[in-house]
Amino acid sequence: MNKRLKCPNCGARLIDEAEHIKSEVKLVNQSEDWNPDYYTKCWNCKKEIGLKKLN
Ligand SMILES: [Zn+2]
Repeated sequence: MNKRLKCPNCGARLIDEAEHIKSEVKLVNQSEDWNPDYYTKCWNCKKEIGLKKLN
């Protein structure tokens, strides 16, 4: 079964990921030293979200 990744801001469903995948989902904050692999925008709250694959 796939897992649902939710927007950290509003909880809207962003994408699904395969069960064996681990990833980090955060709001993109320019001041924070974090380099996501993917960027997307929440369809609901329009915030920019970063996704980083951990495995
Ligand atoms: Zn959102």
